Amino acid sequence: MTKSESRSNGLLMLFTGNGKGKTTSALGLAFRAIGHGFPVCMIQFIKGSWKYGELEAAKHFAPLMEVHVMGRGFTWKSADLTKDVAAAREAWDFARKIIREGKHRIVILDELTYPVSYDMIDEKEVIETISSRPENMHVIITGRGASEKLVDAADLVTEMLDVKHPYENGISAQKGVEF
Ligand code: ATP
Ligand code: MG
Repeated sequence: MTKSESRSNGLLMLFTGNGKGKTTSALGLAFRAIGHGFPVCMIQFIKGSWKYGELEAAKHFAPLMEVHVMGRGFTWKSADLTKDVAAAREAWDFARKIIREGKHRIVILDELTYPVSYDMIDEKEVIETISSRPENMHVIITGRGASEKLVDAADLVTEMLDVKHPYENGISAQKGVEF
């Protein structure tokens, strides 16, 4: 049975790769869905990866657009690692609850690839939870370096290719583009 035959509607979409555009693509789909009156829930797994612009804009779309800033910024210090793991698990427990509740048409798991790649969250559990989601729910995962199993599980995978980025030419982050 192919992925598209296995359920009537909801897709698992994955935006990965090193190029810019993963989170903003997810936000673009949220924008499109909200236009149809579909409720969207976005959960951030890495604190700080969400920018002021989108957080403020999301408020204009409440209550259809719901955003939850969870997780922590990665610190890479062993003393903080247990806190990173605890925050990642807490974010995942919350995401699992949202998925099971089935109140949203789109659930965005922003930057989920990192805690999965670093074994902070159990990959098998992520795939099982997403596979058993409500029929009409679309799930979007973003983040660099998506694992092979996430790629296999997804119906749609787009890899953003980093051809050029303004940072390489010393151009600083621009308001409305980067934050
Ligand atoms: P965006 O949120 O703009 O869609 P993204 O989700 O694809 O970006 P992330 O991997 O989440 O990108 O990285 C977050 C930040 O890193 C963004 O501010 C982005 O501009 C920056 N970034 C993305 N790609 C590159 C790159 N190739 N070189 C330098 N910085 C980058
Ligand atoms: Mg991102």
